[in-house]
Amino acid sequence: MARVGVLALQGDFPKHEDRLRALGCEVMQVRMPEDLNGLEALVWPGGESTTMTRVMSDELRVALTEFCVHHPVWGTCAGMIMLAHTDPDPRVRTLGLADVHVNRNGWGRQVHSFEGELSVVPELESPTQATGIFIRAPRITRIGKHIRVLATIRGEPVAVSQDRMLLTTFHPELTGDDRFHRLLLSWILEPQRSRISSTGDRT
Ligand code: GLN
Repeated sequence: MARVGVLALQGDFPKHEDRLRALGCEVMQVRMPEDLNGLEALVWPGGESTTMTRVMSDELRVALTEFCVHHPVWGTCAGMIMLAHTDPDPRVRTLGLADVHVNRNGWGRQVHSFEGELSVVPELESPTQATGIFIRAPRITRIGKHIRVLATIRGEPVAVSQDRMLLTTFHPELTGDDRFHRLLLSWILEPQRSRISSTGDRT
């Protein structure tokens, strides 16, 4: 049984816990650096990146960076922002581990939250069409050459991966589409292809 952590600082973590349990995982909430001990993968849920920045201790930031460099990790929405890069803003300090740049509220404010039809790469199993829920979602503005696009909406990438790091701008935990959870779990058994350093550089 896979032991998977869900970062529980703030935001939409209970839904991810439910989905992972339904897939047979042992799920642990992560709030302190020591909560990461013994975990095989981590989900960083959506919520609000400014709040996450505010409530995260320096010790937890260091421990999360170390963990995410060495284990499969999935950031949804605000979790994705925290793993990627965004425009300079003193209220948001991201880890910058993914070679992806986002505009934090690039699809508009709360009233502009929407559901949209995604095109998903066939490797993620059928159907290749799925609905994505976007809530004040970040919009990807730049991706590095090692980034793989897993899902698009009107041709724009909305789910990407870099080695064993998965990033989705939308919320699969709300639609019952468990393909992204299963993809994360499949990476636990897969050796890391290349190392990402804690500065985001590949070695
Ligand atoms: N745009 C939000 C942020 O800046 C993220 C919204 C979400 O996680 N649903 O953190």
